[in-house]
Parts: sequence; structure tokens; C-alpha cells
Amino acid sequence: MRVELLTVGDELLLGDTVNGNAAWLGRRLADHGVRVTRSVVVGDELDVIIEAVDAALGRADAVITTGGLGPTYDDLTRDALAKAAGVALVRDAALERRLRERVARAGRELKPVALRMADVPEGARILGNSAGSAPGLRVELSGGVVYALPGVPFEMRTIMDEVVLPELARSAGLPAVARRVVHTAGMWESEMATLLAEVEEADEVELAYLPDPAEVSVRITVSGDDAATRLDGVEARVRVLLGPAVYGAGDETLYLVVHRLLAGRSETVATAESLTGGLIGAELTKAPGASATFAGGMVTYATELKERALGVPEDLLAEHGAVHPDVAAAMAAGVRDALGATYGLAVTGVAGPDPQDGRPVGTVYIGVAGPGDSRIVVSPKLPVPEGGPEVRPVIRRMTVVH
Ligand code: ATP
Ligand code: MG
Repeated sequence: MRVELLTVGDELLLGDTVNGNAAWLGRRLADHGVRVTRSVVVGDELDVIIEAVDAALGRADAVITTGGLGPTYDDLTRDALAKAAGVALVRDAALERRLRERVARAGRELKPVALRMADVPEGARILGNSAGSAPGLRVELSGGVVYALPGVPFEMRTIMDEVVLPELARSAGLPAVARRVVHTAGMWESEMATLLAEVEEADEVELAYLPDPAEVSVRITVSGDDAATRLDGVEARVRVLLGPAVYGAGDETLYLVVHRLLAGRSETVATAESLTGGLIGAELTKAPGASATFAGGMVTYATELKERALGVPEDLLAEHGAVHPDVAAAMAAGVRDALGATYGLAVTGVAGPDPQDGRPVGTVYIGVAGPGDSRIVVSPKLPVPEGGPEVRPVIRRMTVVH
């Protein structure tokens, strides 16, 4: 079974919109074992869309398009599909009724042009969209089948997951496959691969590493009978082998997990950041409801501020400079007390590109001050890139994740 993607929209060609739909579709289909053999982008031009659909169906069994299903005259996908199929556009009574109801509920007047959204190529099947107004369309042409989905990413994804994916997987006769992505922080890809060697060797189990500069995720694929049940067992084994580096799976993000752990204990954290300049605070505040667990942060970039704002002893700074484990611990305690949080979290280090106080690029100390006198300082071993402009952003990002 060969599938091609056709994303439609001038905004994609002009670079105003990043083609997130193609990226998401590619990954989603791969996750379900469906092979995407080509991905094409075209603008809002009738002839070009028709030509692209014909060409794609000359090579593949199915084409998934996104965009161009809206009400305006530059939304041409439905017209293109009708023409390609050699059929007329007909107004669908149920769709029209739904549109009128939605517009009336919103207290607005229906513009005639909006009714275009109720037009479908004769014989097409309407793909319901529980997420919004725009339905998708399934059109059969002589060369194969076209699934036309709206451009709005959320609506596209909903129809894809609810309707198209199950249908494609069925018609491709794919064996049962179950997949899950497990996320880790602070571990290198090579370390992980070594630890997971035994899992990799098991039958019908496949591992794929998905590295972000600082986080490595591993996608576990289990195939064959009982794939879904066996996946749970494989995931449990992966978690045991990787230990505390694992922070979550699937849609879980690091900041959500941190938020949830703190919220569960009614605790808060405050940050004192040097080399990351506020990135840790930015990350923690991504969590909805972060105010319950994130007290606040201080960006104490200048060495002198570490003393003045956080009470790091002057002689400590004079003797060792700002990049030192004791400084990280003192910063953490300082910010915990200054902002009245359960934990203080502090980072100090050398983001590069040049060494600082005789310490090499990539030296980072992370201090955590808990209740009372409890302190932890870690110095992660960062895989420092070889010079170049990437050094700073990568080290800062890796520090955030650690
Ligand atoms: P609707 O029927 O809801 O109006 P549509 O099918 O007409 O949707 P477009 O008008 O082409 O879709 O796009 C709607 C929105 O979705 C736009 O904001 C556009 O930027 C975004 N969008 C369209 N195509 C893509 C894509 N390939 N990747 C990411 N976003 C996209
Ligand atoms: Mg459009």
C-alpha cells in the first residue's frame, strides 16, 4: 500500500505557514505502519491541484490532501476533486443544514459563499469531523482513493485519527502493531542503546531512537498477535533498564511531569538561573496551572547579583568564580528562601563559546535546595558539540532538561 501526501495552500509555498500537517501525517502514518512514498506541496491553483492529484494516483493507491476545503474562493480542493473525478459538485442537504445551524447558533448571518462548504463531488463520502465545521471528503477516482482533509491542523488530525487511519490500516491488511514512545532526560543515545540491547534482540520488537539535542525518546514497536498486551511488558522492561532517566511516555512532557509531581505533594519550586537566562522558568510555566507549583524565578546573570540577590557568600565567589558546585547550592538555597518555595533550583555554568574562569565549555552545576539543609548538586556530563554557533543554544537547552 503506497500513500502520498498533497498539502495545499499558497501560505505553505510562501513560507508563511510551516507545513506541520505533512510532518504530523508522515509520522502518524509511519507509526501505524503505512508507508508514505512522496509528499508534495502545491498552491491554491485549480489546474495545479488536479494535475498533482492525477500524478499522485498514478503512483500510489491513496492520496491524503490537506487544505483548501474552506469557504473562500481560494479554497479549491473540492472543485479540483470533482473535476479530476469528472463529476459535478452537488450540495449536500445534511451538511447545509448543519452549517445553517452552526451559523445561527453563533448569532450570525450565513454568507452565500459559506455554503460552498456544503458542496461535495458527486459520489464522495463525507468524513465527519467531531472537532469543527469543515468535513473531510473521501473521493474515489480511477487511480485510487483521495482523502481530502481540512487545513486546520486540529480538525485534520481529528478526522485522520477517527476515520482515515483505521480505514487505511484495514485496507492495507496490516498486522497488529502497537507502539509507544518513552521519554528520557539526561541520558545519551549511545548509553541507552547499550542498556536496551536485550530488548532490541527480542523477536517482534523494534526500537527507534528519537534524539532531541537534550532528550532522547525511544519508540517501541511490537508486532504480531497480542501486540498491545506485550507492549506493556516491553515498556515496563525498558523503564527498569533505563531507571530514573525515564520521565514519561506518549504525550507526557517533562514540564507536565514536574508539575504533576509537585502538585501531588502541594510543593513549589523557585529557580535561580545563570547560563539559561530564564529558560527553566519558561519551561516550567508551560504547564497549565503552573502557578500552583512554580513560585517564580530570578535570572542572576552577573556574578555580583548572585551575592546581592541570592546571598551567595562573597568569599566563595571570590575564591572559585561563579561556576562552582558550592555556588550552585548556595544559589538554590538563596532563591528558595527569597521566594518562599519548597525547593530552590539553581544553575550556573559555561555555555560557551569560550571557557570561563578556566572552566571548559559545557561545565554545568545544578543545585537543588530542599527543605531544611538538604542540598544536592549535580554536574551533568554534557555531550558538548565541537565549537560552532550551536554550542550555546545546545548547552543551554541541555541544562534545562537536566
Ligand atoms: P477550513 O475549511 O477550516 O477553512 P481549509 O481546508 O480551507 O480549512 P486552509 O484555509 O487551507 O484550510 O487552512 C486553514 C488553516 O490551517 C490556516 O491557518 C493554515 O495556515 C493552516 N494550515 C493549512 N495547511 C496547513 C499545513 N499543511 N500545515 C499546517 N497548517 C496548515
Ligand atoms: Mg485555504
